Amino acid sequence: MRTIVVKAFGAEAPEADLKQMSIERRETVEKDVEIDIFYCGVCHSDLHTARNEWKGTIYPNVPGHEIVGRVARVGSNVAKFKVGDLAAVGCMVDSCRECEQCKQGNEQYCENGNTLTYNSRDKYLNKQTFGGYSERIVVNEDFVLRVPDNLDPAAAAPLLCAGVTTWSPLKHWKTGPNTKVGVVGIGGLGHMGVKLAKAMGAHVVVFTTSQSKVDDAKRLGADKVVLSTDKEQMKANYASLHFILDCVSAQHDVNAYLRLLKVDGTLALVGAPEHPLPIAPFSLIPARKNFAGSTIGSIAETQEMLDFCGKHNITADIELIKIQDINNAYERLLKGDVKYRFVIDMASLKS
Ligand code: NAP
Ligand code: ZN
Ligand code: ZN
Repeated sequence: MRTIVVKAFGAEAPEADLKQMSIERRETVEKDVEIDIFYCGVCHSDLHTARNEWKGTIYPNVPGHEIVGRVARVGSNVAKFKVGDLAAVGCMVDSCRECEQCKQGNEQYCENGNTLTYNSRDKYLNKQTFGGYSERIVVNEDFVLRVPDNLDPAAAAPLLCAGVTTWSPLKHWKTGPNTKVGVVGIGGLGHMGVKLAKAMGAHVVVFTTSQSKVDDAKRLGADKVVLSTDKEQMKANYASLHFILDCVSAQHDVNAYLRLLKVDGTLALVGAPEHPLPIAPFSLIPARKNFAGSTIGSIAETQEMLDFCGKHNITADIELIKIQDINNAYERLLKGDVKYRFVIDMASLKS
């Protein structure tokens, strides 16, 4: 298969800083769209993967799955996009398309394993997929999204993972008017969870460990903010919530949040810390509570969420960085020091 060589930024080993490298992409075939990447958001999953915290990272690893850019080339059979269109790619670039889940439009739960944007097996080149910390990406049009024109493309990039990862469980567990929703951990995912849950009509309660985010969370749309390190504040919220979205990236006591659920309430994990999270049986049993998980969202859900954000003028709060600042950005991410998503201006890779 013919390939093109593009500049990228990635990690050669778990302890290594990310640095500039060259990678290969396939030349567009039939239904492929080649995108000139303008912006790529920095998800905590990028850091977990680059540092092999979830194991299974194939090196070199080029992270990045919050991609917005412009279509530079299309294959002979592309119907949805033309050269010059604004286009976006999220966490997946393909799936088996044949299993029960794919047929139902749940590619994120593909039973044969979908192809993630990075660190998956590339069906075409038979090596690992490479993500958005790069100049260009080539993706089958079925996995390419449209970004509403009224949204700032840089601030829209985080919708492709942080947006849909919070949107999908908020919809699945039927939050909205007359529901009380807790959002735990106000980073990239959490701050989108607050904005989306509020726009969907829920009463939103934020739980943060950061004093500096207490006032800010109200600006994001929270009806109430709880400093989760304060036991009295936590106690005052026992048995008050229908649903909790846990967006925390590190070890924390899930039992403390299960106590906040009403009977039949659900706590869904989207945050994916490196180590197991112990659950006390009596955190669940007495009030028939549900401890659940959710991963990203389908392509249809991603487009639905993007269109919703276009209609309600919702984007992420971002700090634009150069690709050369990525290693420092990872250190700041570990300290919770970002309001609320780093987005890489990919023009910096060309300089
Ligand atoms: P992030 O921006 O780093 O936010 C994580 C937040 O967790 C922090 O802002 C902080 O919020 C809280 N936190 C961090 N360390 C903590 C600690 N030791 N104790 C308690 N709270 C702590 O990360 P993100 O990009 O939003 O991602 C969050 C998690 O979701 C990551 O594990 C990521 O891999 C995962 N993820 C999962 C999916 C999925 O499909 N399920 C998709 C994307 C990401 P406060 O300052 O408010 O306390
Ligand atoms: Zn992500
Ligand atoms: Zn499938």
